[in-house]
Amino acid sequence: MSETITPKKKNILGYSLSQLEEEMVSYGQKPFRARQLYEWIYVKKVYDFSLMSDISKSFRETLDRDYYFSLPSIFKEQDAKDGTIKLLLEMEDGAKVETVLMRYDYGNVICVSSEVGCSMACEFCASGLLRKERGLTSAEMVGEVLVMNDLLSKEMERVTHIVVMGTGEPFDNYDNVLTFVKIANEQRGLAIGARHITVSTCGLVEGIKKYANEGLQINLAISLHAPNDEIRRKIMPIARRYSIDELLSAVKYYIEVAGRRVTFEYIMIKDLNDTLECADELASRLRGILSYVNLIPFNPVKEKPFERSDKETIKAFSMRLNSRGINCTVRKEFGTDIDAACGQLRVKYQTKKKK
Ligand code: SF4
Repeated sequence: MSETITPKKKNILGYSLSQLEEEMVSYGQKPFRARQLYEWIYVKKVYDFSLMSDISKSFRETLDRDYYFSLPSIFKEQDAKDGTIKLLLEMEDGAKVETVLMRYDYGNVICVSSEVGCSMACEFCASGLLRKERGLTSAEMVGEVLVMNDLLSKEMERVTHIVVMGTGEPFDNYDNVLTFVKIANEQRGLAIGARHITVSTCGLVEGIKKYANEGLQINLAISLHAPNDEIRRKIMPIARRYSIDELLSAVKYYIEVAGRRVTFEYIMIKDLNDTLECADELASRLRGILSYVNLIPFNPVKEKPFERSDKETIKAFSMRLNSRGINCTVRKEFGTDIDAACGQLRVKYQTKKKK
């Protein structure tokens, strides 16, 4: 796929089907040309215009003049005993991002990064240690999935679920993330069912409302991590911009408009947010909201002072939520023998490079 790229050439992997139809029409072509291209790219995995035999030679040359294909390259790969694969991918400009594959009983879940670094600076997060350099393009996010699909094809498997939960705040890169999830959800594209795609935000209220109005059936997860503003402000700078009340009001709007259940992510940090009083307060806050809580045992990050809650505490917290009528699960842990925390591999590489 390497070739000389002139500045005006565009990576064709970054177009949703409707965007590509518009592009084709702008060349005087019929919209179905876009569907043919999708078929070649995503079904037949052909990344060379000259081989697209049902397109005329002259238009193939036009496509080759104006577009190109580019996938990220694998810079580092870590394989865990449980089948988890963590990749540090390198983009065209040298930027590096992490992508992780986790194997659940129900399918292969990829955790996609949406930005290079993150400016949200959550205190418990390795990704936030390196500030945002730029948002990823939709083509780069599609590339994360295609590279993982390529690895999985050796086992006759493919990515079946996507969570946009890696490095970056998706709603801080709203348009590109939205185009990406449309390509992911397109039957002729990456062919992932809407209910198998989740976008996770740390709580950008305007983004949640905008997302509610998109008319998508894609899941929404909220990184809540605290039952009250006082604790949330200690670990998430975004909580200084929006109170939990404002956040939950946007979540209720989303549920009303989209008619979908929401997931609240809650990282269990020892002696910070893991007491039974916290569980009671959380249950009171979430009562009546169509949702469930996903408790996440904290993955220690050496640069951070926090510790994970012990197993008994997590179990008691979970039982207390359930007894108060809040649906709750404890997230399974993956890749404990590799750099398990989100962003850890990139931080390890980037900080090593600076020394
Ligand atoms: S938890 Fe998410 S939003 Fe917060 S710093 Fe990490 S990547 Fe950014």
